[in-house]
Amino acid sequence: MHDLAEIIDRNSKEPDVAKIRSRFPVLDQEVNGKPLAYFDNAASTQKPVEVISALKEYYEHHHSNIHRGAHTLAARATDLFERTRSSVRAFINARDVEEVIFTKGTTDSINLVAATFGKAFIQQGDEVIISTMEHHSNIVPWQMLCEATNAVLKIIPVTENGELDLQAYEELLSEKTRLVAVVHASNALGTINPIKKMIQLAHQHGARFLVDGAQSLAHLEVDVQELDCDFLAFSAHKLYGPTGVGVLYGKRELLEAMPPYQGGGEMIREVTFAKTTYNDLPYKFEAGTPNIADVVAFDAALSFIQSIGKKWIQRLESQLLAHAMERCSEIKGFVPVGTAKDKVSVMSFTIRNMHPFDVGMMLDASGIAVRTGHHCTQPLMDRLGLEGTVRASFAVYNTVEEIDRLYESLVRIAKRKN
Ligand code: PLP
Repeated sequence: MHDLAEIIDRNSKEPDVAKIRSRFPVLDQEVNGKPLAYFDNAASTQKPVEVISALKEYYEHHHSNIHRGAHTLAARATDLFERTRSSVRAFINARDVEEVIFTKGTTDSINLVAATFGKAFIQQGDEVIISTMEHHSNIVPWQMLCEATNAVLKIIPVTENGELDLQAYEELLSEKTRLVAVVHASNALGTINPIKKMIQLAHQHGARFLVDGAQSLAHLEVDVQELDCDFLAFSAHKLYGPTGVGVLYGKRELLEAMPPYQGGGEMIREVTFAKTTYNDLPYKFEAGTPNIADVVAFDAALSFIQSIGKKWIQRLESQLLAHAMERCSEIKGFVPVGTAKDKVSVMSFTIRNMHPFDVGMMLDASGIAVRTGHHCTQPLMDRLGLEGTVRASFAVYNTVEEIDRLYESLVRIAKRKN
């Protein structure tokens, strides 16, 4: 199904970005009369032809509802759907496929844990720890849970340069802590948090740990057994895959101890009006007809990433980030936001005397797509005393030339008020 051999020349020292880029039809267009430079990858990445054709092929040749049918197409669609589950298992090195639950996205995965782990394990007076740098998706579900149960939400502070205050984290942990939920890599700043150490500390206090991997899975090797995290949540659409698909990884013993999330078809073993019994993992958490086509196509996105390799992706993206930071730091009025040493390829900044939204609009006029605003991290922005930032986030198809265009446009924009 996938013809990926051509993407990478294994004998070459550098990844061939032109070849990678050629797999993304959407990039080959003009926006506002200029070639599109797409730097909004932390919000959602673009899709390679492999993913687009997997979707088309699925609908043209294989579609049926899954798991229940006695006919050939049902078996084929089921195999394709379950193949992606096996690929996800391998991608994150989970022990079993049963530990991989398909959801709608990171938000859905976190809500699932808050609702079901919350129901089984969180009571009045218990504590849940999150951090100041969380995306709203990893704040609001815990606020809702704590309100409903009278549990207490504790917040790890963030330092001025955008790192977690680990000393404060250790002080927050106690025998009352039931769960810690922290972002692996910040969508607003790019900071990579020392998640492995944080997990060890949580476990020393008997607490469980959820990793919000929305921003890390496209860039960093994530091995759930090595990390020993209890839960990992991420979205396919930030990994070159389709929208509407997410993953929740959970340790089997926890998932088994948690009640189902939603009730409906597929998640049951037997329904009677007297008593309904639930299906085994992972189906217990997958009520109703899932997003079959997009799950099937997600497999092509995983193959795409694997065929390039995370090492190359990281190398390429860190070169892009270093180049962008080096060039843009020369600009009068350019203020970087989030200067942690360990970062994924996110450059967050403001231009002195200018509103981030205006900067974004002016960049758009030059065909350059960035995101502006609070990036769904309002508490973090409050902590940093900012209304928002401009965020350029880089992916495997971005080029040095595009970054030079960003730099040149920013020079012109910043000059107006600096
Ligand atoms: N967590 C982080 C760190 C994110 O960056 C995002 C999306 O930007 C989310 C959670 C939510 O992801 P989704 O909207 O795909 O559910």
